[in-house]
Order: sequence, then structure tokens, then C-alpha cells
Amino acid sequence: MPTIEKHVEISLQRTGKPYLEVHEWMDDPRNKTERHDITRVLEFSRMFEEKYGEAAAREYVQHLADDLNGKFSHLVEDVQKLVDNTLAYFGAKK
Ligand SMILES: [Zn+2]
Repeated sequence: MPTIEKHVEISLQRTGKPYLEVHEWMDDPRNKTERHDITRVLEFSRMFEEKYGEAAAREYVQHLADDLNGKFSHLVEDVQKLVDNTLAYFGAKK
């Protein structure tokens, strides 16, 4: 998953604003699992909308999406490494 700094960078590129308060809230180590619970997305996006406006709520949803994308790209890299190692073990080339 991207770091808070990376999330801020992505928000800046996407919107021109850092939304640091959104990303810090999301990745607070003591509450991280609860705050990434996809079944609570409606509840938390309403909370962000009331507190900081609709754009902040959108950045909250985008944070979840960016975390998911980060996980999947790691998965692809990890699987590729396994495939490469297995091919090398058997003396095969890609
Ligand atoms: Zn996160």
C-alpha cells in the first residue's frame, strides 16, 4: 500500500490539493484496519463530506482504490518473481 506521502502526492496530482487530513485519518496505525473496512465506505464517505466537503469524500474512496491497486501490483510482481525463479530452477528461459 502507498505511504501517506505517496497518497498525498497522488491527491496533489489528481486534484491540486493534498488532502493530508484524509490520508492521515485512513492510515492511523491504531485504527487502520477498521478505517479500510469496505463495508463502511458509505458511513465514512458521509463523515468526510460533512467535515471537509464532497471532494474530500471522493479522495477517501480514491485512497481505498489506490491501496487496492497497490496490493494487486505487488501481487503481480510477486507472482512474476515466483515464475522466474521456478523457470530458472528448471533451466528454462522466458
Ligand atoms: Zn490506506
